[in-house]
Amino acid sequence: MSQSIVHPDPDSLLRFTLNGGEARVLMVRSTAMTQDAALIHQASDTAIAALGRVLPVCAMMGGLIKEQAGRLTVSIAGDGVGGRITCGVQANKLKISVEHPQADLPPREDGKMDVAGFVGSSGQLVVVKDFDKGEPFTSISHLVSGELGEDFANYFTVSEQVPSLVALGCLNQDGVVLSSGGILIQAMPGCPDRTIQDLELRIPFFANISREIYDRSLMELAKSWFQDFSPQFLGEEGLSLQCDCNREKMRRALASLGREDLREILESGEPTALTCHFCRTQREFTSEDIADLLKEN
Ligand SMILES: [Zn+2]
Repeated sequence: MSQSIVHPDPDSLLRFTLNGGEARVLMVRSTAMTQDAALIHQASDTAIAALGRVLPVCAMMGGLIKEQAGRLTVSIAGDGVGGRITCGVQANKLKISVEHPQADLPPREDGKMDVAGFVGSSGQLVVVKDFDKGEPFTSISHLVSGELGEDFANYFTVSEQVPSLVALGCLNQDGVVLSSGGILIQAMPGCPDRTIQDLELRIPFFANISREIYDRSLMELAKSWFQDFSPQFLGEEGLSLQCDCNREKMRRALASLGREDLREILESGEPTALTCHFCRTQREFTSEDIADLLKEN
């Protein structure tokens, strides 16, 4: 496949409602973000396939709390070879880290990447929502398959008590991301059963969402999939992979080590380098910086 035929739209989040508000839908294209994350983490193809499913669902979850100026952290701690995956979202900016980005698995028999093997089918999905006032809200659900779509659908249905359909997908090969994206459909309170049943009949359309997003715009797909549900479009917003770390945050992290450890670092006489788990930016702290920290503490 040639890269030139990949859909040229930038990453975005499209929102709309169906049947006058009976259900809401979010759709995401996250191809560029997934490619960026793949390069930052030097990720294996299996890891990329997992990141390319986590990024779109986190972008959609971030979209749901954006009006309240919320910050979201999703952490997936399964028993797969990839270890913990953590994704942070605020105002359509995402960051993602993975414990073992180079871990790889052979493709499954059907040719798809073994995302469940990478993530693990047993473990926890932890969602923390922080609205900058009061305690953050934490909800924990269990992984059900490690394929991620089902795990997040289970989270929405069990933890948030909102019946939800989730489809996520990533098409990638040899380090190249051809497409990544997802869709989230949520029944709003009072949504008639008939609408839910009609929407469930659409599931096969989303089964191969990465293939669909590969060469069509989100708007085009939304119109073709939901034309019988009178979609009302609420807007399309840009998304980007952008870390919010800086030198001062890292300095505070270093300070939190405590005097004992700081003194040890100072006595070694070596500069200390800290690396951000999300963007892999490395920042160096000299002996003078450490001495200053000790003075402040
Ligand atoms: Zn960073």
